[in-house]
Amino acid sequence: MSTKPKSRWANTEEDAELDAKLKLEKEEKRRKKAEKAQKLAEEEAARRKAAAAQQADNTNLSNDHDDPSRPSKRRKLTPEPPSSSAPPRLLRFDPPSSSSLAPSRSVDHYDKLNDIEEGTYGFVARATELSTGRVVAIKRLKLEAADPNGLPVTGLREIQILKRCQHRNVVKLEEVVVGNDIGKPDNSIFLVLEFVEHDLKSILDDMPEPFLSSEVKRLLLQLASGVSYLHENYILHRDLKTSNLLLSNRGLLKIADFGMARYVGESPTPKLTQLVVTLWYRSPELLLGTRSYASPVDMWSVGCIFGELIAREPLLQGSNEVDQISKIFQLCGFPTDESWPSFRRLPNARSLRLPPKQQQQSATGSVIRAKFPSLTTAGASLLNSLLALDPDKRPSAKEMLEHEYFRQDPKPKPESLFPTFPSKAGQERRRRHEPDAPVRGQAVALGDVDFSGIFQGRKEEKGAGFSLRMV
Ligand code: ADP
Repeated sequence: MSTKPKSRWANTEEDAELDAKLKLEKEEKRRKKAEKAQKLAEEEAARRKAAAAQQADNTNLSNDHDDPSRPSKRRKLTPEPPSSSAPPRLLRFDPPSSSSLAPSRSVDHYDKLNDIEEGTYGFVARATELSTGRVVAIKRLKLEAADPNGLPVTGLREIQILKRCQHRNVVKLEEVVVGNDIGKPDNSIFLVLEFVEHDLKSILDDMPEPFLSSEVKRLLLQLASGVSYLHENYILHRDLKTSNLLLSNRGLLKIADFGMARYVGESPTPKLTQLVVTLWYRSPELLLGTRSYASPVDMWSVGCIFGELIAREPLLQGSNEVDQISKIFQLCGFPTDESWPSFRRLPNARSLRLPPKQQQQSATGSVIRAKFPSLTTAGASLLNSLLALDPDKRPSAKEMLEHEYFRQDPKPKPESLFPTFPSKAGQERRRRHEPDAPVRGQAVALGDVDFSGIFQGRKEEKGAGFSLRMV
């Protein structure tokens, strides 16, 4: 008889046999998985070596052109451009390094633990790397029917941009892997990202108490720091919102989801799509149809996030684009030639019929002040400036970092003193109640929008002393 105490569950010999069998099967499965991982690692090492050798060959080949005795392989079909002292401003691409030439690893190096969420452009799951046991987040890019032979442009941009970003407030892309997801034999592409326990939207939805002022300040400083890094590197995020801001258990905020992001030049690039940024965080110039915009579109979203951190609900929850711009005007005032000199030149501005001047609420920030009575004067002035209708009047992320609000008491709370929250990422799928980022091709024209009726009973209240009532 065995001296080992019987399992609580193995009451019969049959049970014990079954237990032993299952244990053996489990061990065998584990051994096979380890063998597979080892084989993959070896194959990959061989592939890397071959890629490095190939690159060395290519380098030799290109060096061949330096030998004047050898004929050029290609005929020149276009004439040399005229030389000029000012070099043309072209996008520069770094030459590929041998590591970037190496083929992507297989997703089989990771074991899926659970789904986190299905987003607009991908499915995100928690997983462990088999060789290290490290926990990561894996985002499978959704392949659209329109892109059957390739990656959607959003996925390409996300990879290209995240690969180059290195900042503590920007989520880190560890690698890109390929393979088949369970039940999806479609050779998918996956982004392996550092795993961050929470996103701000889930925290705001669940927390019993609002963030303290000192916590709001630290979160905003981190957000501004990440956004400043992006803008200094000519990257527009174009979808900043609380569900795209991750927060670690150590109080570290990270900007995620670069599916809408893109590189821009130093001066505003003309002809960008205005179909960017989730509706509730979309700036007035985008809603009015501008196609030449720049970093202030992100700063508007930062303003919306600021308001949301205090109110614990999105600041401007329009049900469609017309409703969104109405809500913006109710909060920030109607645009005037003084508050936003260039607004009349925007494509959709022509179809706006604004109330007569004397009935317009001027953009003094009084509505914002009244909506957030707990904010100090400095806090309200920062929020007001972020939510300036005129994009040129919004502070840059760098300027925001220097704002008086962050120097005043209570001082920003150190990250290490941040409260921790129960992680949802290890549990069931998260659910969202917010409109998603726009999908290309789904423009909603403002059409002829009559804002003169935004004041109820404006006719009766003609003249001085009218009261503002929102519809
Ligand atoms: P999509 O581009 O499809 O909208 P996101 O990148 O926004 O996808 O991710 C969707 C959700 O997945 C996020 O709101 C967040 O909850 C979760 N998530 C994304 N990246 C990570 C990560 N690195 N760690 C943990 N959770 C993440």
